[in-house]
Amino acid sequence: SSKQRTQVAIIGAGPSGSVAAALLHQKGIDVVVLEKSLFPRFSIGESLLPACMEVIEKANMLSAVERANFQFKDGAAFHRNGKYTCFNFKDKFTEGAGTTFQVQRANFDKVLADEAVEQGVEIRYQHTLVHIDIAGEHSLLTVNDERGKSYELEADFVLDASGFGRVLPRLLALEEPSCLPTRRAVFTHIVDNIDTSVPGNLDYDRNKILISVHPTNPDVWYWLIPFSNGTCSFGIVAEPAFFADYPEDNIAAIQQLAREEPGLCQLLTKAEYPNSAGEIGGYSANVKTLCSDKFALLGNAGEFLDPVFSSGVTIAMKSSEIATDLLIRQFNGESVDWQKEYADTLMKGVNTFRAYVEGWYSGELQDVIFHENPDLKIKQMICSILAGYAWDTTNPFVAQPERRLRMIAEICRDTKS
Ligand code: FAD
Repeated sequence: SSKQRTQVAIIGAGPSGSVAAALLHQKGIDVVVLEKSLFPRFSIGESLLPACMEVIEKANMLSAVERANFQFKDGAAFHRNGKYTCFNFKDKFTEGAGTTFQVQRANFDKVLADEAVEQGVEIRYQHTLVHIDIAGEHSLLTVNDERGKSYELEADFVLDASGFGRVLPRLLALEEPSCLPTRRAVFTHIVDNIDTSVPGNLDYDRNKILISVHPTNPDVWYWLIPFSNGTCSFGIVAEPAFFADYPEDNIAAIQQLAREEPGLCQLLTKAEYPNSAGEIGGYSANVKTLCSDKFALLGNAGEFLDPVFSSGVTIAMKSSEIATDLLIRQFNGESVDWQKEYADTLMKGVNTFRAYVEGWYSGELQDVIFHENPDLKIKQMICSILAGYAWDTTNPFVAQPERRLRMIAEICRDTKS
């Protein structure tokens, strides 16, 4: 009974899919969203950046997100061997929102998807894309529905918003190895019971993500992402071999790692671990191409770097914004150069983040972040990137990320006491 053709088929109803669907629907473009699972469903990626709020607003979803009582977030705090430093996102170089939220993704993704449906978008839950033929004038998608019956859907254009599912990269053989080493994350949701009246905990700020560096392995780090209900997402990222010295049981490993980092050990003395642990590895991914005149890969379906700067959802939403602006033009009869206008534009910001991710693991960026007397103007420029404004080329640290970072890291090293 359901429709067998659409202007745009979107694979996946995560943040990039829901936002893209709403942005297209607003302009009268016909979309069908295919979503493999039933919502709510768990997803990792819980700390947002202020830059994504502008896309949420453009998709008319801001009030729904604000109503959902998520944890307010206004910055990022870092801790390494007794040194604390924090970035307040309002104190940044680029204009724009300076606050955001930390969200349980099961909830957040449902809020966005429900809002898209409220606006008139059709989401087909438990419909899985299993095959695609892009050879003809229109693409032909083979979909398995909730009863396992397969049907075909014809689309003028396909947006792959399948996240770690990476559906089109797999079906169209676009996968390429990532240039970043394989890392693994183990994580859980804890009841934190953080008591800020305890002297050592006075600095703790629930409105910020806390990134802690392992005391003896500086490329191993922890995230502590507070939620509004007294729980936190707590996770550790390291190369897979690192975990070999820890208990096989992931909760036991997380607890042991928490005890090893003095700041977290103190903060989480009373924490409870009622939930099971999750793990994800080898998540960094790359593709041969991000688009053609028939499809575009959004968010994680294209590139995924590393979670250290919480950039995933922001890149995902930014990709939706750029791709849908171009699609609207294309459906209005204008010609679009997808490589230049989509891929190159998106990659500008992705590559900014890449430089900072590489700088984090090489130690250069850590030296800058933990420097005792930061130049305030430079700190604002770096803060802009940490807040997600990685496409603002008026920021010298966006225009030439590697060069600027190396320069400033050298200065920080020279002035170290
Ligand atoms: P997703 O949210 O993954 O949604 C994809 C949807 O597609 C899913 O609902 C799935 O069911 C559906 N799907 C898959 N295959 C099919 C199919 N064949 N047919 C139909 N539907 C399909 N990002 C942040 O912003 N902040 C963080 O703090 C953060 N932390 C992270 C920590 C770790 C350890 C990792 C690995 C990632 C982290 N990320 C973070 C990244 C974040 O998880 C992703 O960037 C984000 O979820 C991408 O959103 P998306 O819309 O592209 O895809």
